[in-house]
Amino acid sequence: MKYIKSNILSNIPSVTHGFIYLENSLNINDFSEKMGLEKIKTIKQIHSNEIVHLNDVNKYENSYEADAIVSDLKGYGVGVYTADCVPIIIIDTYNGYFGVIHAGWKGTLSGITEKVSDYLISELDCKSENIKAAIGPCIEGRCYEIGEEIADQFEARFKNSNFYLTRKEGTKYNLDLRKANIKQLNNKGITSVEIVDICTKCDLNYPSYRRDGKNAGRMLSFIGFI
Ligand SMILES: [Zn+2]
Repeated sequence: MKYIKSNILSNIPSVTHGFIYLENSLNINDFSEKMGLEKIKTIKQIHSNEIVHLNDVNKYENSYEADAIVSDLKGYGVGVYTADCVPIIIIDTYNGYFGVIHAGWKGTLSGITEKVSDYLISELDCKSENIKAAIGPCIEGRCYEIGEEIADQFEARFKNSNFYLTRKEGTKYNLDLRKANIKQLNNKGITSVEIVDICTKCDLNYPSYRRDGKNAGRMLSFIGFI
């Protein structure tokens, strides 16, 4: 069981969080209990920019199609699964709203991280200076090659895509999804961001879609208030 935590989220009172590869040894319900949480709520991830707001556990379905969950409930966690995609844990340390984001290239292109930041700030009265975010293990830029058809879409949609998109040779590019998502956080004034510097494709302790194909396992990224 590979379990790591972010430094900047570790000293927030009553908060439990982490990035963990459960493999086959433990299911999410047993793990939730171990972490002191009633349940960790998940979603049906579809590479979108849809957000679910968990505010009533009795009405919540894990089959909601979305790629981010936001909540401020005590005793329940929220989680996303990834294998190479970028997992982001986010929290407003002042008003207690927290969330998780799953951002692959499609979600990143559709601006999911910016949308979640916006939702926290505009709808839930969070202040950007109170928000902390941690980017978990994911595929790093130099290991993530994409074709021109995807690169073109990033260039068309974002002004500063050269910050995270590097032309390699011919029609091949490297896309740094971490940097692209940091940019989206920064655009909303969120600057307290930590990167867990682990590449899922290089580190054999983590599941990687690019390395292992469609049978790759999934890493869980979660946060909750005990
Ligand atoms: Zn790598």
